[in-house]
Amino acid sequence: MATVTQTNSSAVSRALLLGFAAIAPVVALAFLRSNVVLALVPLFLSHLLLLYATLAPNCQWWGPIITRFQASAREVWLTIDDGPSPADTLAMLDLLKQFDAHATFFVVGANAEKYPHLVTEILTQGHTLANHTQTHPSRTFWSAGPAKIAREIDACAETLRIIPERPPFCFRAPVGFKNMFTHPAAARRGLALIGWSVRGLDTVKRDASSVAERVERGAKPGAIIVLHEGHRTESLPGFNLRCLELVLQRLSSRGYRFVLPRPEQLRAGKCRVDYSKAHCPTSALPLR
Ligand SMILES: [Zn+2]
Repeated sequence: MATVTQTNSSAVSRALLLGFAAIAPVVALAFLRSNVVLALVPLFLSHLLLLYATLAPNCQWWGPIITRFQASAREVWLTIDDGPSPADTLAMLDLLKQFDAHATFFVVGANAEKYPHLVTEILTQGHTLANHTQTHPSRTFWSAGPAKIAREIDACAETLRIIPERPPFCFRAPVGFKNMFTHPAAARRGLALIGWSVRGLDTVKRDASSVAERVERGAKPGAIIVLHEGHRTESLPGFNLRCLELVLQRLSSRGYRFVLPRPEQLRAGKCRVDYSKAHCPTSALPLR
């Protein structure tokens, strides 16, 4: 089980955020009789800070988010979200094989339940799985309470329990949104929250070249890259594959290797991640 040690800085920022949110209404009440506009300032500011901490994907104010790994060479960690997908997964695995690349698939539990043979194939080919919630509630996860967060994480973990004795220990929140309840829920389950260094915005852009360009610009040794699968498979068939192919081509030509970092290489700002009892992400096992 992985233990993400809370740094002083993230504990302090969390306490400050919550403290300010608690004091802001009191300050607002104090100013209310003399100046209504002034009374609204602390309320507005506290809401703004809470929203920023929640909606800025790699913001560490609620707790540590892993955004890079320590690499001694031109290595990157490719992560592929939202699968498995009957439209993309097998072809993506072929592409990865062509480039001798490894990736971690942050799968949605409901998709894994529907397409277990794709999960098996991912593992058989030496890639790894990680928890990306059971239903991927991208519009509501940012405001989810403890019960909903627990349900989403636990149901996905249960789905992925098919991996013998090696449950994934990495978790990525949908769209990277996390609130004050997400870190405690992940920590209780020994899950590390994974963010990214660069994302291709491949669920928004329509041009695979610009996705690959963006990834190439943000790539550096130790970068965590996010791409997606199973999106817009009807309106833009093959788009996710083309993005992956271009990213593999461009970064390979610049000498990058696509690796699965060892647990002790993972970094979350200044946060230390204690993986002494962790299940290593490089130790994927084929299904029974
Ligand atoms: Zn996602």
